Amino acid sequence: MANWKNRKGLQEVANGVWVYLQPDGSWGWSNAGIIADGEANLLVDTLFDLKYTKEMLDEIKANVPGGDKIDILVNTHADGDHTFGNQLVEGARIIGTEGTVSDFDRFDPKMLAAVMADPGKFGASGEFMAECFRPFDFDNIVLTPPTETFKDKMTIQVGHKTVELLEVGPAHSLGDALIYVPDDKVVYTGDILFNEGTPIAWYGPVVRWVNACNTILDMDVDVVVAGHGPIATKEDVVRMRDYLLDITEKARPFYEQGVDFLDAAYKIDLGEYRDWPDAERVIVTIRTLYDDFAGGERPVHAPVPFFEKMMEMRHHLGKPRVHDEWCQAHGHAH
Ligand SMILES: [Zn+2]
Ligand SMILES: [Zn+2]
Repeated sequence: MANWKNRKGLQEVANGVWVYLQPDGSWGWSNAGIIADGEANLLVDTLFDLKYTKEMLDEIKANVPGGDKIDILVNTHADGDHTFGNQLVEGARIIGTEGTVSDFDRFDPKMLAAVMADPGKFGASGEFMAECFRPFDFDNIVLTPPTETFKDKMTIQVGHKTVELLEVGPAHSLGDALIYVPDDKVVYTGDILFNEGTPIAWYGPVVRWVNACNTILDMDVDVVVAGHGPIATKEDVVRMRDYLLDITEKARPFYEQGVDFLDAAYKIDLGEYRDWPDAERVIVTIRTLYDDFAGGERPVHAPVPFFEKMMEMRHHLGKPRVHDEWCQAHGHAH
């Protein structure tokens, strides 16, 4: 495969099709991209805070022809690490699925700013959220949701390029979408793909996420741009799909025996997946699988309490603190 680099910043993966990576892809370090043909452009997602989004927009201005003004912004889903910088993309059309708009305030930046200022007030969940989100600054973020929505599929022209937006959620989130550039054989997956990291199924059903992976595998693509982690290929999609299938099959007997989902998470043998970064996320995915197995109306779970459970699981798995390596490399004190 081409010699893509796993380094922070922009790189062109096809003619006028760019990727913006933020290694190491762990909690909050998301990827974005831009499709530009000189006449028009489309930005895929913004980043988790204003500083990092501005850095990205400056790099786009300096490197992408016509990149000084963004025409269209598409959010792959609502999570803050893909949307909190939206307010900096002034004057652009902002497009997302209806689910993305409904999901938009699941994590309120004001709440995250309050957690960062005083994690203890939010108990053990606050402690782990502060650990996961410590490289970021949530001050001054104004939630800026899509103003145009679509269902199922939308085709748009970006100059001479045809771009397809495909709704594949709810899966990771309530409104997941893929952004496909057929002529250049590139797909941006949002958090439908975590590459070299553990996926987290906030919504499910997990089977729909598996189907979304199969949709990608059926595409004629050479480059798969993950929501987190290095630039990927279809092999990486297969690996993550197999994780979802494997956890599903391991969780099912515990559900059938009436074992509590949290106990099941500790009893399941994660095998090779134990070594994947952020393996503690399995807690949330098993909670979602239990809802899948139960069928019927899906309960809505508040996301914050899961952070306490994930921290305990992370300790149990003997993992270091989130972002320790990044903080050491950047002289970040806390
Ligand atoms: Zn993400
Ligand atoms: Zn996400």
